[in-house]
Amino acid sequence: MISDFIKKEDCRSCRFCCVFRRKSLWEVPKHQKYIKDKYPTGFDGKPVRYREFDTPSGSWVITDLSDKYKTDDPEEAAPCPFLDPDGGCTLPNEDKPFECKAWPLRYMRMPDGGLKVTLTPTCPAPRLKDTAALKKKSRDSWEQAFKDYADSNPYIINEYRDGYIIL
Ligand code: SF4
Repeated sequence: MISDFIKKEDCRSCRFCCVFRRKSLWEVPKHQKYIKDKYPTGFDGKPVRYREFDTPSGSWVITDLSDKYKTDDPEEAAPCPFLDPDGGCTLPNEDKPFECKAWPLRYMRMPDGGLKVTLTPTCPAPRLKDTAALKKKSRDSWEQAFKDYADSNPYIINEYRDGYIIL
């Protein structure tokens, strides 16, 4: 989605978005439920623990990383079970969560109830500094793409968090 602004090589050498600090567990991507049966094990061959959510606005699963942390440090990070540290995400494109394909963009509910495309402030890709170009792209295509996906998958909507750049 954001390939005009981030080079694939940058992502390959970074993978920041596939590793989750304890304090950022809300960022763990939501998968459609079939993933749980299709991928009982992760890249390392060990069982993947999933947590299921059934709500009026949709059903999904996330990978449960809670047993991956060794300390109580909120900055300690644990990788997604589908991450190959050398090769990147091991899920095929059709099984990769929408939130991963869209990252570092998010779809967030603002305090007034409106929905906005936002930019994660921690992505280090340098071309993301051109906020004016990002806002134009958002108006031209991203807003509609997020709206279309969220119409059938409202679970991708997160509450707005301070620091996220509204596009
Ligand atoms: S599913 Fe793939 S892209 Fe998404 S966090 Fe896990 S390894 Fe990264």
